[in-house]
Parts: sequence; C-alpha cells; structure tokens
Amino acid sequence: MIIQLNNSVTENQHSALINKLTENKFSINEVNTQLEKYLVCIGKNEIDIREIGHLPGIKDVHIVSDSYKLVSKKWKVKDTSIDLGNNVIIGKEDPTIMAGPCSVESEEQIDKIIEHLIDQDIKIIRGGVFKPRSSPYAFRGLGIDGLKMMYEKCKPHNIKIITEVMQVSQIEEMLPFVDVFQVGARNSQNFNLLDALGEIDKPVLLKRGVSGTIEELLSSAEYVFSKGNEKLILCERGIRTFETAYRNTFDINAIQVLKEKTHLPVIADPSHGVGIRSFVPKLALSALLSGADGIIYEVHDKPEEAFSDGQQTLNFMESAKLIEKIKLLYRSSIFN
Ligand code: PEP
Ligand code: MN
Repeated sequence: MIIQLNNSVTENQHSALINKLTENKFSINEVNTQLEKYLVCIGKNEIDIREIGHLPGIKDVHIVSDSYKLVSKKWKVKDTSIDLGNNVIIGKEDPTIMAGPCSVESEEQIDKIIEHLIDQDIKIIRGGVFKPRSSPYAFRGLGIDGLKMMYEKCKPHNIKIITEVMQVSQIEEMLPFVDVFQVGARNSQNFNLLDALGEIDKPVLLKRGVSGTIEELLSSAEYVFSKGNEKLILCERGIRTFETAYRNTFDINAIQVLKEKTHLPVIADPSHGVGIRSFVPKLALSALLSGADGIIYEVHDKPEEAFSDGQQTLNFMESAKLIEKIKLLYRSSIFN
C-alpha cells in the first residue's frame, strides 16, 4: 500500500497515522522524494483503506499488488516525464534522442560530435568516461577529466550530458557535470550504487541487466525511488540469450510490457541491443514504434577508429539518416 501524504502534514497527524499502521502490523517505509512524501506499507493484514484515507494529512491511498510499488503504474496511471531544463523533457510526446560516442576520447572527437548533434537538433549527448569493459586491458575511459572536458564543451550549447557512473565514490565528483546518471547493465543490481543514487537530486537512467528480468529492472528502479529520487528513466538494451549471431537479444517486447507496468519513461538502446551497426537504425525505429519514449545510440565521426564499440556505432551520415526517418515517422499519422 502506498500512502501519499500532504507535503504540509503535521507531526501529530504523521504520528497518528504511524500508530494506526503499526497497530495493523504494517512495516512502514518512509519515502521523501524531491516532490512528494510517501509511506510504503507492507503487511499481510487486509485493511479497509477508508479507515486510513479519511485521516488528516493524507493526500491519497493506493493498494498496489506488484512487488515493486512506487514505480508501478497501478497507482500512477499518468506517465512521468523528466525535465532536464532548457525545454529538454524526457517522456513527453516528442521522442527523446540521446546520441554520442561509446567512450569520450578526445577534445577533437567531442567537438565533431557536438557539431553533428547541433546539426541534427539532438539535445542530449551520451559518452562514457568510466567504462565497464569485459577485458581489463581494454580502454577504460578518460575518467573525471574527460567528463569535465565534455561538460565545458557542451555547456555553451545547452547540450545535456548522460554518462555512466560505476561506483558510489564517483557520484559526488561527477554531480556538477552530469544531467543524467547512467547505471550500466553490469551495475543494474548494484544495490549500494542504487541506494546512493536515490539520495541525490539528478535523474538516473537505469539499464536492464545483461541477464535481468523486467521485474528485476523495476525492482532496481524501486531501490532508487524508495531512497528519495523519483527522477528515473528505464532503458532496454538487450539481454543475453542462447543466440550468438549478434551481441545481445534486444527484447522488443520489454518496451510494451514496461510501458504497461510502470509510469516511468522507457528508452531503447539499439546500439548495445544488437551490436551490429547496419541493424541499429531499423531497431531504433522499431523500438519507437513499440512505444519507447526515446532512443540512446552510439555515433562517432570515424566508428572504425572508435576506442570502444565501433562495430555498433553509426557514422554521421547514418545517424543523420536515422534522425530523418524518425522525423518522418512522427510526422506520419502512425502515432495518432
Ligand atoms: C554503454 O552505454 O556504453 C554501455 C556500456 O552500456 P551497457 O551498460 O548497456 O552495456
Ligand atoms: Mn558502448
């Protein structure tokens, strides 16, 4: 059960409510986010919500049968949107496009990519500076200096930055330079990291784990929300299956399932989803047709020279063609 409190709830009203819930043997999780105050109550006893709903200090009471609560669509039917400022809103009618290199490599590279993003009217750059790599000998990113460099270059153009955070100790130093923290597939169930991201006031894009179920993704999102950060975005990026003909199996079903189960925005990552450059554009379009709120994809001026994931990275021409097709798609009557 989720009890939404009035933001002006008094101490007396609050303790009367806690007493009532304790009497009824509920365990109570207090959640204070940037926007709202909630009590997430877990209990075996049935309770007539009218007994609680009339108490002073309460805005609303919702029974949620899912194991995850705050991220469930069962209590919040209206989709959530995340405002990054300067009119960049994730989860509105227009699809969100995030594009950039797998890894931030150099000033020259970022200059060229920014120019491409501006040409294509793309408002959010992606680019990792802390890279999770399967081999310890592969390029592992430029670190915080790379992020600062990217920030200085993006700032004059109001380009927002999404980048991966790999561990709790990086959050604080990254905070001023990041618009959206990305939690990578390998960290999708790093509960300490999720807890820590719950304590900041910056949006978090949470990727589905390499072998993660949809329910596990939603439960991970619940970790962040229940610690106080409700600015959350989910990302389908493909899962590991028995298939070896491509890097990952993009789970197109997950888009519709997630949109039905949660009010959070859902973004698709076709680059990691298939891992083969020539397949990325059609997969991106398919994900949007399936109801994704946007896409995140890898682009580079010379993908064949990229420090990481070049095989799945679009060049500028391919990226421009994709954007053109997305525009055509949204201009058509297909979404009406
Ligand atoms: C990435 O976005 O470059 C990345 C490493 O993604 P994932 O965590 O989905 O593998
Ligand atoms: Mn990558």
